Amino acid sequence: MTVSGDVARTLRELREEVCALHAELPRYGLVVWTAGNVSARVPGADLLVIKPSGVPYDDLTPENMVVCDLEGTVVEGDHAPSSDTQAQAYVYRNRPAIGGVVHTHSPYATAWAARAEPVPCVLTMCADEFGGEIPVGPLAVIGDDSIGRGIVETLDGGRSSAVLMQNHGVFAVGRTARDAVKAAVMCEDVARTTHLARQLGEPTPIPAELAAQLFERYQNVYGQREDRS
Ligand SMILES: [Zn+2]
Repeated sequence: MTVSGDVARTLRELREEVCALHAELPRYGLVVWTAGNVSARVPGADLLVIKPSGVPYDDLTPENMVVCDLEGTVVEGDHAPSSDTQAQAYVYRNRPAIGGVVHTHSPYATAWAARAEPVPCVLTMCADEFGGEIPVGPLAVIGDDSIGRGIVETLDGGRSSAVLMQNHGVFAVGRTARDAVKAAVMCEDVARTTHLARQLGEPTPIPAELAAQLFERYQNVYGQREDRS
């Protein structure tokens, strides 16, 4: 497959954006070694841009990002794509509104995943960003679309932009790759503070109706139009 014209230009920009967004994962303490990844859907094409497999974060460049089709087959790139490509391709195939997916094993959120316990909605930040608890998805094997199916089925019908895949880690989604990175950062922060609160007693839940109102306000009213953060 040859990529040309507008799509080629979009791809150049997305390679740079996805590469730059990867720097946010170690910066916020969400990943170690080569674990974790960011991907973006390519607007106007059935393609995605994702991290190469096994390449250290310091060695990531726009050029070594990998372009795949939505079946996970490499279209452009000299490296093998992330081992999570099938999972992310499944999400893009099945949820057209999702434009970015991020995966981390960020420690506090993953500690909740290890217990298969949702992060309860006890902080306004959790309500703002996730609209309620951060749910747990199934224990699923890596490499085929089981993880992708688990992500889609767990997030369906809810407001959360993050799912704790049981015994594994975080998958966060967004309209753009940047939104998905933000959700991954917020997920870890909420998981950490809720964990700390638990050490001293039982945190007080935010009523579901109020969580829904906070979510609505934050997603639609709060912040600048271009960047609600
Ligand atoms: Zn993983």
